[in-house]
Amino acid sequence: MSHGSLPTADPYLPGHGDPAWGATHYALDLDYDLAGNRLRGDAVIDAVAREDLTRVVLDLAGMDVAKVSVDGRAPAKYAVRGTRLVVTLKQPLAGGTPFRLAVRYAGAPEPLIDEHHGDAGWEELTDGVIVAGQPHGAPTWFPCNDRPDDKASYSLSVTTDADYTVVANGELAERRRGSSRVTWRYEQVEPMATYLATVQIGRYRVQEYAGAPVPMRSAAPADAGPGFEAAFGRQPEMMAHFVERFGPYPFATYTSVVTADDLEIPLESQSLSTFGRNFCVDDWDAVRLVAHEMAHQWFGNAVTLARWQDIWLHEGFACYSEWLWSEASGGESADHWADHHHDRLGGLDEDLVLADPGPELMFDDRVYKRGALTLHALRRTVGDEAFFALLRDWVAQHVGGTVTTEEFRAFAARHTGADLEALFDAWLNETGLPELPDRPAAS
Ligand SMILES: [Zn+2]
Repeated sequence: MSHGSLPTADPYLPGHGDPAWGATHYALDLDYDLAGNRLRGDAVIDAVAREDLTRVVLDLAGMDVAKVSVDGRAPAKYAVRGTRLVVTLKQPLAGGTPFRLAVRYAGAPEPLIDEHHGDAGWEELTDGVIVAGQPHGAPTWFPCNDRPDDKASYSLSVTTDADYTVVANGELAERRRGSSRVTWRYEQVEPMATYLATVQIGRYRVQEYAGAPVPMRSAAPADAGPGFEAAFGRQPEMMAHFVERFGPYPFATYTSVVTADDLEIPLESQSLSTFGRNFCVDDWDAVRLVAHEMAHQWFGNAVTLARWQDIWLHEGFACYSEWLWSEASGGESADHWADHHHDRLGGLDEDLVLADPGPELMFDDRVYKRGALTLHALRRTVGDEAFFALLRDWVAQHVGGTVTTEEFRAFAARHTGADLEALFDAWLNETGLPELPDRPAAS
């Protein structure tokens, strides 16, 4: 066992995650002072040793650590090294042993910069907070094992100024009011990857939607304006359509948060999505991203990549869901969008391997569009009935878990009985843009 260098769980995110242990539950008790951007936290992490451990390496960035315990006792020592918290154990833990880590910490949280992915993490808004975890921002606000294949349940308690609404993952279990501060406690019982954990704080008006398959809410500024209804108004219908296509919505609730600030891109988190005020417009480009983020609840959040190289299993599917909603809502057909984007991609560099684009290209728009085109090529090859049955069963079989591209390929071949090797090789592993297959003849 190496004691010098710190582990990396996924080559796409160097310096994050430790494969030597896994978390099963995070209980985070946070106190946040908005005016001073001061976060104080108590994290209790239930974990399991995956191998014999003499130390536990966590991800935590920019926080001062005041106290650490392992199974209620002080460790031999602990030290913050860059964006890691290294806890040296008094007694080694044998592989398979459960243990409980407690960390008390505090600091002024700020986004963490990564050479390929820019800023991510806890970020102050003009009047509030967003937490954009993808892909490397989780350590900015809680100590964690920051790797996408280590999913755990969460209990998230946030105490802050009473004038603000706090939205976090899962169901609101309790709201307790003190004199000038309020504690919000959310329970996320379904397993969640670290990067999907979030806290959103703002002066929001919370509204319930009627007629959605599960309780659906929005948390938006009171003056969001008529564009809000245009962009977000059809979400109950949208979810009903996705339920028909992908199977049951995988979480207890869904919330759309709209920040008072503009945001460049929307943000996916488990059981909620966050959009800037600039998305409150009557425009297909806003609506398609509302659909995109909602679809991530199935593809990304319930069924999560085990390795970042398989990001097309999230973004290709979410992008394809935009086309499905277009088709279902009276807009252009998926065939139209596929032809349109195939033409566009044909004019761009063909130097990207979809199943392993590299960390610098993992959020390249070509991953999204080529990923969606791969699904459309599959749909045209096997037909609508087999294609949508495949999507539903893919989710049903893997909900709460993690997946790889190889697993999807094997699952698709088994499920449809079709020989899909050449199709998947061409779309996923080669750089040249394949032709879209012809539509299957009507039978
Ligand atoms: Zn996305």
